[in-house]
Amino acid sequence: MVLEENITAIKGIGNKTAALLNKLGIYTKGDILRYFPRNYDKYSKIMPINTIKTGMMAVIFAMPVTVPILKQMGRKSILTCEVSDGSGTIELNWFNMPFMKAKLKKGVHMIFRGRVVKKGRFLQLVQPEILTEPEYYRKSEVLQPIYRLTKGVTSNLLRKSITEVLSEVTSKIEYLPKEIKQENSLISLKEALHEIHFPKSYTTLVDARRRLVFDEFFLFALAIDRLKGEREKFRNSTIIERKSTVVEFISNLPFSLTNAQLQVWKEIENDILGGFRMNRLIQGDVGSGKTILSILACLLMAENGYQSSVMVPTEVLARQHFESFFTMLEPLGIRVVLLTGSVKGRERKDILEKIEKHDADIIIGTHALIQEKVAYDNLALVITDEQHRFGVKQREKLANKGNEPHILVMSATPIPRTLAVILYGDLDISIVNELPADRLPIKNCVVDEDYRFTAYKFILDEVKKGNQAYIICPMVEKSEENDELADVISYTEELTELIGNRARIRYLHGKMKNDEKNEIMEDFASGRTDILISTTVVEVGVNVPNATVMMIENADRFGLASLHQLRGRIGRGSAQSYCIFMSGNTSKEAMERLKILNTSNDGFKIAEEDMKMRGSGDVFGIRQSGEMAFNLGDVIGDADILKLTSETVKCMSDKIKNECYYRGSNFYKNGFVYGEDIMTL
Ligand code: ADP
Ligand code: MG
Repeated sequence: MVLEENITAIKGIGNKTAALLNKLGIYTKGDILRYFPRNYDKYSKIMPINTIKTGMMAVIFAMPVTVPILKQMGRKSILTCEVSDGSGTIELNWFNMPFMKAKLKKGVHMIFRGRVVKKGRFLQLVQPEILTEPEYYRKSEVLQPIYRLTKGVTSNLLRKSITEVLSEVTSKIEYLPKEIKQENSLISLKEALHEIHFPKSYTTLVDARRRLVFDEFFLFALAIDRLKGEREKFRNSTIIERKSTVVEFISNLPFSLTNAQLQVWKEIENDILGGFRMNRLIQGDVGSGKTILSILACLLMAENGYQSSVMVPTEVLARQHFESFFTMLEPLGIRVVLLTGSVKGRERKDILEKIEKHDADIIIGTHALIQEKVAYDNLALVITDEQHRFGVKQREKLANKGNEPHILVMSATPIPRTLAVILYGDLDISIVNELPADRLPIKNCVVDEDYRFTAYKFILDEVKKGNQAYIICPMVEKSEENDELADVISYTEELTELIGNRARIRYLHGKMKNDEKNEIMEDFASGRTDILISTTVVEVGVNVPNATVMMIENADRFGLASLHQLRGRIGRGSAQSYCIFMSGNTSKEAMERLKILNTSNDGFKIAEEDMKMRGSGDVFGIRQSGEMAFNLGDVIGDADILKLTSETVKCMSDKIKNECYYRGSNFYKNGFVYGEDIMTL
């Protein structure tokens, strides 16, 4: 089979359908093969109504006890009906599905399957599927793959096309040597591809996932290994000496550096003054004060006549960094410029010219900076703020850039050291393991719907004191598929109706244009907005010390690492901050996870606990580690596989390493391993 062959070679896919599939990033047969289900539907056992709990996908065998009511509201409709199974009754609710009414017959038992939510004091099943008994038994036997879809692309189309491509896959696709498969108890790649799409059972799915996660981590480990080999060669080509300006700058700061900051600064300085090029990772929890360390490093460079660049993942963050750098360094005569995608035309040309002529000492911008051709006069330091993405590709690109600059990578993901040394195996690691002393620990609480109005009142009280609040929703807009999840747009409408006369409310999400996002963020940062309702876009590094409350809706739907990152947006000033985790899901597992956050503000401790709590192979689990460059693998949840791959690479000969790397990357091409720039939400 030819993996590079265009998808139009698949039966039933013409140019029109191909264009739709392109939107999902599917261009070739190989792409569709690697388009793994994002989840599987499994039909659980039928349960009595009086045992179901909020948050679960429940299956009940019940009969309507009321006449179904269909309410029309403009273009929207709501269908409701009460059903009973002898153990209890529950209301069923369909949004914009009026045709379901005909299926509901009073007194006739049917199987209903839907998500349980709490409405006021009662439970409800939302958008339940209606099944006959034979339908249910047939479906409950197999795991149904669920794919991410787009308009015009159905699950059926994907299933059919994937089946066809799978039938062409032969065992030649394998690239791992037999010994490695045996030692690590891995199934073949061919089998894994079959089972990930169409699992025969839960056990085979777990094996398939394990094999594919192994591949991801393995190729990643090989890439790191190569980087490491390359980097060791570079000698330090800059001539730097210590400057008294830096010492004065530190003593003139409005605060004194923490011991951890001082220690890490010493490590950075030693690198820069040493014999080899710096390749250092600074890991520090949110709010530990990493920015000032990057300012110091750039200052030292500038004082020695070298340029530095600072790259961050988003425009909003680039702007904020620019302001911090500018305010602190401009008085010393250091020239800082901002270069992002929205700087255009004449202005862009001027900035590029300044960089080339060395009329700019420090260049702050988004990662686009590395993609395009920026000519520097003498770039000697590149700082990249990774937040919580592990992008080897970016590191690779940097390593190959020009004059072998020093490299400093900042990461706000507190991951256990045992994993950090693997994921950042090509870098030396420094840890800022202390928060500034003036911080009050964030007060946390985990609550359910009953607390909602108390929470709003609490937020309004904070607003009255002149503070600000974030409210985080998992979705951008209403979605039928995830009806029970809060979305930014309707949430804002509802909250504005409720308290809009007492607080200035705005919203933010990742689908907005950059200019709009910047304007909204600046409005919030300058205090002209009191409550910002947002998706996790705010997670990425924004600094508004005046924000003292964060309320997270559907908190059980986020991974622990994401929740911790989100919470890091508050507690950045000297005032007391509060985080409210709102969760309708009161299952034991959800509560246990949230309890970890409730009782600790220490990211490293949370990551350790998280790792202990989760076994691997948790196919249906929530990705704990937020957005990462891995497709299937979860650094925390699959920590044991990650360690295994790293051990495996250590024991391999260079020849086999090379072979595996080339053949493996040939199959997993187009960044499946490293992920492209995954800036969703
Ligand atoms: P992060 O590590 O999350 O990037 P920042 O560098 O944004 O954290 O720092 C958070 C806030 O703490 C900033 O407002 C910064 O000025 C302040 N800060 C940094 N170091 C100290 C310190 N030693 N004492 C007090 N405040 C500090
Ligand atoms: Mg930061």
